[in-house]
Amino acid sequence: MRRLGRTNERGATGQRDATPSGAHEDGKETSNQGSFWHGFANMANVTSENEVVIVRGVGCEVLDREGRWYLDATAGLWYCNAGYGRQAIAEAVERQMRELPAYSTFGMYANEPALELSERISQLSPLADDKVFLTCNGSDAIDTAAKMARRYWNEVGKPEKQIIIGREFAYHGMDAFGTSLAGISANAEGYGQLVPNVARVPYDSVEALADELERLGPENVAAFIGEPVIGAGGVYPPPDGYWTGVAELCRENDVLLIADEVVTGFGRLGRWFGCERYGFVPDLLVFAKGVTSGYLPLGGVIVGPRVQEPFWSGDGVAFKHGYTYSGHAAACTAALANLDVLEGEDLVSRVAAFEPEWVEIVSSLASHPLVQEVRTAGLLGAVELSQEELETRPGLVEEVIANMREEGILTRSLLGTAIHLSPAFVISREQTDALVAGLSHALDAAREDEDTARVTPERGGDDRLE
Ligand code: PLP
Repeated sequence: MRRLGRTNERGATGQRDATPSGAHEDGKETSNQGSFWHGFANMANVTSENEVVIVRGVGCEVLDREGRWYLDATAGLWYCNAGYGRQAIAEAVERQMRELPAYSTFGMYANEPALELSERISQLSPLADDKVFLTCNGSDAIDTAAKMARRYWNEVGKPEKQIIIGREFAYHGMDAFGTSLAGISANAEGYGQLVPNVARVPYDSVEALADELERLGPENVAAFIGEPVIGAGGVYPPPDGYWTGVAELCRENDVLLIADEVVTGFGRLGRWFGCERYGFVPDLLVFAKGVTSGYLPLGGVIVGPRVQEPFWSGDGVAFKHGYTYSGHAAACTAALANLDVLEGEDLVSRVAAFEPEWVEIVSSLASHPLVQEVRTAGLLGAVELSQEELETRPGLVEEVIANMREEGILTRSLLGTAIHLSPAFVISREQTDALVAGLSHALDAAREDEDTARVTPERGGDDRLE
């Protein structure tokens, strides 16, 4: 393994000069801030000095432009499941781009990779007789699923069924539907009302959902949406029997069930899809991220027979929805090549086989005095820091993350209270040990700094909320 966190002369690309603030000779104000606006960041705190700029990746490791290698504990934002540096994916995309980068899939148009990918996803999916609607990313796929659910009820003569119920701690992307359906209030603040007719229930209670359905009236409810395991909200696995209970309740109340598998789909839980692990079949299954391992952006919705019916049968009806890059030929090719890698190396079974070791190693952190609890499922993990400590040191998670960077590990905060773990499926036992040892050292260092750090440290951004 490379010496993580140390300068590697081979890969060093040099750092951009940090220009001090002040007046330039042409009269223009200069600053040490560039033009790029980071997502989920307070840009007043991001400068060319504290920006972490990644230039290369191999397997589970990435290199920054100053020549330091890091273990990427999160596979980017939960997407690089096959690992970085897959030449086969890059070559397949290059071939496709030379042939045809993209062609519209609206109306009667299509391209070969979009057709092939849809067949392939349909074969992998646990939904019988399904159809696949392709989008550009997870947020668009959530908007698509929500619109499809409401439109379905409209087409079958129940237009009053509009409300979509989501859960606390849920994250469904940042388009208007996803922002409104999520359970992280801070992400929806300051925009006014985005999408009306949404409701929210606790993440872990079938009874609470039953009560809410009764309160709203099932005749007004279009769908319930949930992640099989809550991801960005803190990695919360469902209680035993939760999903089978929810599926039954939805069936009894004639409410569609939407599984948001943007994180859990394509192997993250040791099955192709999370719903298979928890024993339920949704009406609509939303995917993105792992379908391409992030080599190109792509998402979509797998649509079961019930919802397709009014659109595909009889006289049908046009679903007036789609994106310029729905079924983008190069992105679909990246997905096909990524699925070849996952299948060829049996990486989904590898996740299932490795999970017990992963759980054992990561759970060893639970005994650290700064840790409240460790949550895991498949190759996911969250290390929740002590509530008591966080009350007096609100910047503690960011401090631990900065310490981890010094240890050569990249990760980020979940809701400002937990540390995010979701490495590539190719992570080795040795790398997992290194990850947990680094996290443990980072926690020790934070503990030693306890007295000085009780003053909230300056933060390089504000990514607490996704
Ligand atoms: N749904 C879930 C569960 C997610 O975790 C995410 C992104 O993290 C999304 C939807 C949105 O996907 P994207 O960021 O590709 O739009």
